[in-house]
Amino acid sequence: MDVAMQPAGALLVGLMAAQFLVHAAGWAMTALMQRRADGPEGHFSLFWLALAAALALQLAPESSPAGALAEGLLLLAALAVHRGLLRFYRQEAPDRVYAAALALAVLALGAAAAGLVPVPAGRAVASLLVALTALAGAATCWVNGRARTRTLSIAAGAAMVAVAIGMGARALLLATQPAHALPDLAGASLLNAAFSIALFFLAGLFNLAQIRLVLGRVLQHLMAQTQRDALTGVANRRGFMMALDAAHRRAVRDGTRYGLLMIDIDHFKRINDSRGHAAGDEALRGLAIQLQHTLRTGDTVGRLGGEEFCLLLPGCDIAGAHGLAERVCRKVAGANSITVSIGVALADAAAENAEQALARADAALYRAKNEGRNRVIVSGG
Ligand code: GH3
Ligand code: MG
Ligand code: MG
Repeated sequence: MDVAMQPAGALLVGLMAAQFLVHAAGWAMTALMQRRADGPEGHFSLFWLALAAALALQLAPESSPAGALAEGLLLLAALAVHRGLLRFYRQEAPDRVYAAALALAVLALGAAAAGLVPVPAGRAVASLLVALTALAGAATCWVNGRARTRTLSIAAGAAMVAVAIGMGARALLLATQPAHALPDLAGASLLNAAFSIALFFLAGLFNLAQIRLVLGRVLQHLMAQTQRDALTGVANRRGFMMALDAAHRRAVRDGTRYGLLMIDIDHFKRINDSRGHAAGDEALRGLAIQLQHTLRTGDTVGRLGGEEFCLLLPGCDIAGAHGLAERVCRKVAGANSITVSIGVALADAAAENAEQALARADAALYRAKNEGRNRVIVSGG
């Protein structure tokens, strides 16, 4: 193909390659910021880089070996995105299969370059491998992503199936038709221009899908961090109050009640003073683990501050909450060098708000402290 003869087509391909380079740079930046090259971000960067290079090679004269190289780069791009998706979903990557596919493509393209097999046949093998990789990518998206990001998984999977069909058809054409029967991306016809623009648009959407995946995970991680206590791993005050708010609204709607156990370690200051702050931290972690073991599904334990924890027990009655508090109190005193005091309240969602219920549990705890500690007091009891 003569570039000077077809400036419009060449311009479109050049523009597209430049855009893909920008995508590659964006993902490389993200990988650098995360200080890991082997995550999905690094793979996505390689994907766009290989794709940009494959496109740029479309501008080279047809007689040059650039065509074969472009075909190999397309396969590299497909493998990179597949491996990146597996990294994202924390799955083992079949590196041996990747190596075999690349070796097969190099062999086929090399044999074609050496004149051992017809050039289109060599390219057909590479195209077929790209099609298979795209199908595997679609399956990876669908199997791993459908539970959480259903629409995105369907869209990304469908895009990859479309690529697989396109590349499969291309392999078939290459194997059965003369090479010039293929659409020439850099050609000057209106059809080629429309094809290039559609490809440009779809590639942008694919990049958006990758961003949505990675950004979604980062945001989810950050949200979880803001609701978790760094020392004990249980919910922090913010996380607990969110769970309490949700439980309260559910109780109002369903006309049910929920229990609150306000738990505070007795004379915790002495532990810090006599055994050191690290021992104090260890005691806090131990208590958090013990509390977590008492929970049923749907219950929440939170560290509201210092050495004060709270259990939220949706759908509970006063006897159940009281019984659990007594068990916790005895278990802690039996297993540790600490004791706890516990205030229990059963929230009546129709008559009070969540803060009022929490204040009643707190007042009961205060009474437990005043009455000698290492005991349970039930609000209103
Ligand atoms: P009481 O029986 O009345 O509850 O007495 P207390 O000593 O447990 O209560 P006080 O509120 O006087 O002291 C709480 C102590 O908890 C003081 C503070 O040093 C300690 N503390 C708060 N947060 C942490 C923490 O993250 N790690 C450690 N090691 N200690 C903490
Ligand atoms: Mg205390
Ligand atoms: Mg306290």
